[in-house]
Order: sequence, then structure tokens, then C-alpha cells
Amino acid sequence: MDFDNTIADFDDVIHAVALESQFIGSRVPKSKRRIRDWIRQRQDGEDRWRAVQAAVYGPRIEGARLAPGVDRFLRQCRERGVTVYVISHKTEFATADRTGTNLRDAARGWLERSGLFDAHGGGLAPGQVFFESTRDDKLRRIARMGCTHFIDDLEETFLEPAFPAGVEKILYDPHIECDTRAAARVFTNWAAIGEYAFNGGR
Ligand SMILES: [Mg+2]
Repeated sequence: MDFDNTIADFDDVIHAVALESQFIGSRVPKSKRRIRDWIRQRQDGEDRWRAVQAAVYGPRIEGARLAPGVDRFLRQCRERGVTVYVISHKTEFATADRTGTNLRDAARGWLERSGLFDAHGGGLAPGQVFFESTRDDKLRRIARMGCTHFIDDLEETFLEPAFPAGVEKILYDPHIECDTRAAARVFTNWAAIGEYAFNGGR
């Protein structure tokens, strides 16, 4: 499974940082994609969006919250002997971040504080978490770890020609914003993903 906006929900903190920076007005909804699209359309949009991302994935990561139900999903995986890997495209540093925060350390720290490394919480081992420097490396890691399913919030991941064949594509789309060209199964919450994975629901 992916990390940013799949396990860690950044909607609130992205909204807060964008609002503080006066890149958006308060009426823009608390949705990563809506905020991104709003900022990008405007002057200096790309730079501004990069600045927001550098903040929330680094020094402001404590504003992220656990996506609802992901802890329960991980517990269900463990009970059933299903090995889970977190495989994320994440560079060590963001050019737009002047604080020099290591983004991978920030993410690992957040996972730990969120209880996902606790034996009775998420039960993940640090060795099950991979941060890769490029999207291609991420796809290669998915193949190398022998994943049968991959859960991601970005349909772009699934549209990559290098996405490994035979891995089932599960799109996590809590705001129902995706378009469905990615030919993935689409779920709006982790409970539904669990239902599908363990009970063959839907
Ligand atoms: Mg993501």
C-alpha cells in the first residue's frame, strides 16, 4: 500500500497550510486534489503547490491523521497472515523545504507515533516500509516484494505502463474524485477495502 494520502490523510493539514499561506480561501474544500487544482491554476501555482507539499510532508507532518479504518485493516491482515508492505515514492528532502527535514524520517516517525509499529496496533515492522526515490523504483519494489494487490490514492500509479502485470489495482478515493480510466477497483474507505479483501464483498 501507498503512504501519502492513503495511510496518512493530509487533507486537513494541506488545507490549513494553504490557508495560512493565503494560497486559498476558506471555502475551498478540505480535499488534497481540490486544493492542488485550485492552487495550480493560479499565478506561481506550481511553486506554491510544491511549497505546501514540502511543508505537510515534512515539518508539518504532525497535522496528518490516520486514514479512518487503516489500523483495523492492518490488524485484519495480521490475523489472517497477510504480509503488508508500505511502498511509497518519497524523496529524502524537498527542494522547497528550507528546514532541511528528512521526509522519510518524518514519515517513519509519524507511523510510529500513530501506533502502526505497535504489536497491538498496526503491527508493521520497519522493514516492511519502503521509500523509493522515483515512481519507477516504486513500481519495481511492488513487483520485487511479490505483491498481489496494491492500494493507492493516485490513479496515475496504475496508469503507468511499468505497473507490474497481475497485481490487482485498488484505488483509495475517499472523496469520489477519480476518473476510472485506471481500470482499478475503487473504494472510498478502508472498511470497504477490508470487506472486499477478506470477505469477497461487493
Ligand atoms: Mg499517495
